[in-house]
Amino acid sequence: MDSEVLREQGHIMVDFIADYYKNLEDSPQDFPVLSQVQPGYLRDMLPDSAPDHPEPLKELLDDVSKKIIPGLTHWQSPSYFAYYASSTSVAGFLGEMLSAGLSVVGFTWLTSPAATELEVIVLDWLAKLLQLPDNFLSTGNGGGVIQGTGCEAVLVVVLAARDRIMKKVGKTSLSQLVVYASDQTHSSFRKACLIGGIHEENIRLLKTDSSTNYGMPPKSVEEAISSDLAEGFIPFFICATVGTTSSAAVDPLVPLGKIAKNYGIWMHVDAAYAGNACICPEFRKYIDGVENADSININAHKWLFANQTCSPLWVKVGTLINALKTNPEYLEYKVSKRNEVVNYKDWQISLSRRFRSLKLWMVLRLYGAENLRNFIRDHVNLARHFEDYVAQDAHFEVVTTRYFSLVCFRLVPVDGDEDKCNERNRELLATVNSTGQIFISHTVLSGKFILRFAVGAPLTEEKHVTEAWRIIQKHASKFIHKKKY
Ligand code: PLP
Repeated sequence: MDSEVLREQGHIMVDFIADYYKNLEDSPQDFPVLSQVQPGYLRDMLPDSAPDHPEPLKELLDDVSKKIIPGLTHWQSPSYFAYYASSTSVAGFLGEMLSAGLSVVGFTWLTSPAATELEVIVLDWLAKLLQLPDNFLSTGNGGGVIQGTGCEAVLVVVLAARDRIMKKVGKTSLSQLVVYASDQTHSSFRKACLIGGIHEENIRLLKTDSSTNYGMPPKSVEEAISSDLAEGFIPFFICATVGTTSSAAVDPLVPLGKIAKNYGIWMHVDAAYAGNACICPEFRKYIDGVENADSININAHKWLFANQTCSPLWVKVGTLINALKTNPEYLEYKVSKRNEVVNYKDWQISLSRRFRSLKLWMVLRLYGAENLRNFIRDHVNLARHFEDYVAQDAHFEVVTTRYFSLVCFRLVPVDGDEDKCNERNRELLATVNSTGQIFISHTVLSGKFILRFAVGAPLTEEKHVTEAWRIIQKHASKFIHKKKY
């Protein structure tokens, strides 16, 4: 690691990245939002084996421009509206750069005291912005940890809850353990349960529909628990979601939390996307009831401008550590106040960990909470704007009630023909995305093929939303005017 080479090449790299962002805005025609390459395209362009001798950075960056960038789907394009955004920012990028540059590994307090202590402090800051109850804060016997992803977060809490219940009911009861979520819950929950040894047939995914805007009905949860108890099963986990992946539906945390509390069940709140919006007082109501949850997770890389990856998870008390603690001799160390020291290796699956709190700290400091709230509000307003366009066109309909920055919409059926309608919406999605001008995604709700328009890319402005609607309308016109269905 030669510091002068780093200085020289680092500047070149920063220029390259800055140019990428500038070109993404100024020359969108050169950057199809959804990559248009075919599978295997790269193998034909690169040699079969690694070079024996060093190659110049310039040559490598030329290859990035010519061979890699065409194979990128441009998540940071202002015309990216698919899935949920992966929001970047200058502060998030600088934080990533600093973290990669310092390259410390804070698996125990000793291995980088600042990495551990900053994470504890920054997650307390963020918990306060979210108005989480005191027992999620380090000062209140709980605390936060930055997981890589939402999938890792739900896995560790399922393992912690499983260990907690097995301590109570005995290790031989694994096959009786039952979990509850809705049919809208992210697929990572099922995966976490299976990794945790929960039997597939004991994963109850409760039915949702439009009557609750696809939120999980507490009555179904209560009925399922009663029926499971009567049959000798052991209910131990509810996964509630605030902002589901399909349609940003909200499970009602207040009644679900009461049920969880009554039955001594662990409740986890997956607020990967929408939890970020809860730093705004007007959206905080969606996590009311979190006081009865045992854990909550948000993805700051989705909508808090913290660059991939950064998934803060808060838990109450020491249950997580009890489940994940390891004490090999080679990691032993002595500090004067050992019991007060956090060792993040005991809060996650892996041992090694990145210094992610640095970028979250930088995002919070370089923007300040009020700006972050306003960025989120801007996105919600842009989504409202798009929703108004849809609502004004009789050929389209908004399908679900919008709470945040996701609009679920579709071309309406003609003469009640739902099958044809699904086909047309599917075709419209493919056509629009093949233009490379915008990228939107889809879901299926109650058998209806739905188009999803999710605002969240930091460069998106009103003109991009207006243009996106123009493109959608233009390509929809071939179905509308020919009255093909
Ligand atoms: N939960 C919800 C509600 C999500 O929308 C997602 C991803 O979109 C996840 C969990 C998984 O998050 P990650 O991709 O960070 O594992």
